[in-house]
Amino acid sequence: ADSLAGVPIARLETVRAREAASYADRRPRTQAALAGGTEAWLDGVPMHWMKDWPMPFPMLVAQARNARLTDLDGHRIDDFCLGDTGSMFGHSPAPVAEAIRQQARAGLTYMLPTETALEAGRLLTERFGDYRWQIATTATDANRFALRVARAVTGRPKVLVFNGCYHGTVDEAMVALHDGQTVARPGLTGQVADLTRTAVAVEFNDLSGVEAALATGEVAAILTEPVMTNSCMVLPQPGFHDGLRALSRQYGALLIIDETHTISSGLGGYTAVHGLDPDIFVAGKCIAGGMPTAIWGLRAAVAARFASYNATRAPGHSGMGTTLSANPMQFACLRATLAEVMTPDAYAHMEKGAARLEAGLAAAIARHGAPWHVVRVGARVEFICAPGPLRNGTEAEAAHKPALEAVIHTCLLNRGCLIAPFHNMMLVSPVTSMKQVDRLIAAFDKTLALLFG
Ligand code: PMP
Repeated sequence: ADSLAGVPIARLETVRAREAASYADRRPRTQAALAGGTEAWLDGVPMHWMKDWPMPFPMLVAQARNARLTDLDGHRIDDFCLGDTGSMFGHSPAPVAEAIRQQARAGLTYMLPTETALEAGRLLTERFGDYRWQIATTATDANRFALRVARAVTGRPKVLVFNGCYHGTVDEAMVALHDGQTVARPGLTGQVADLTRTAVAVEFNDLSGVEAALATGEVAAILTEPVMTNSCMVLPQPGFHDGLRALSRQYGALLIIDETHTISSGLGGYTAVHGLDPDIFVAGKCIAGGMPTAIWGLRAAVAARFASYNATRAPGHSGMGTTLSANPMQFACLRATLAEVMTPDAYAHMEKGAARLEAGLAAAIARHGAPWHVVRVGARVEFICAPGPLRNGTEAEAAHKPALEAVIHTCLLNRGCLIAPFHNMMLVSPVTSMKQVDRLIAAFDKTLALLFG
């Protein structure tokens, strides 16, 4: 093929080389700092995915405020790479920064709750509904603990996940569907346990596939995002969530809704906006404004079953909980975020900006005749370099064009706009200005002009 998603390969290569050179040329201080030595870090970076960005070398951040980053060379960059991060409400929200300042004088971590913890619990219920809450430090851990409870109360071994999902580095979610069979995903490092004994993969939007898996009687829980946000974005078809809820009840499996990303869908998350009714609710990342924190909550009926289970459980480790979880810094930031950051006004601004971005990107795609589409849920917008809508993880994977996307991301960055590295996700935060949105639309239009001529 001499084109990729409509873009001639030769032109793509020309643009790639020119944009990579332009990125490098404009960063002498960054290059000097990196030349000072990165070998202390395994493979040169403190976290392996920092190598997966498309630029020739990583951008070093000097400062982040609101929805803007400044790099070491002084470039001011509009930050739309917020949707996969703890900064969905912007960098260092003022009430969270203030909570950190105050708590810093009163101890950073101890193994007891505070009065603020009690208030944070009440705010969680007010915001997300009537659950019995626990704290973790990452959404990965919150999901792992929720799965333990689901297995404990149902006495069943398996977790049903959707092909193409991501729920953190949760073993059970590292499976895929291959020719109708659940298989471990290729590429897992040091994997020994057979994941197909503990997980089953089904396509998103496939209720008959879900029913077939549940009918085995082996499934303790369905673990899903309301919208698949971790591949190219896939929206639920009408009736899908109602069907999941009905089938999970019919077959005695718990429904775990992971709102870690879709909390950007509106006040109370997608669950509140669209009236979902999970047995277990999970969220993390931005829930405490960027202070590493996650939450998971059980409906009263599940909590009661868990209490019965615990009454007969042998003494000893439960396999849940970590030392630094539920520390006073988390409670202070959780309270500040729930009460002062995650407000109706904040969500109204996010929604408005994201609708503007969606329309602007779609217009650019139409203007250049690109065979692409745009998809949005709440504040989260993604352009996809393939026609849509996508219905499931298999279609999402086929729509993903890493070589093309890498060039687009570098083009956008060179025009002052940062978007998420591993897919084409952009998030409009409460502190993202409409001017920033318009600059991103203009940068995207310019990028398409380069690619399509
Ligand atoms: N759940 C979902 C839906 C996620 O997208 C992610 C991270 N991308 C996680 C859980 C895991 O979050 P963390 O990496 O903070 O543990």
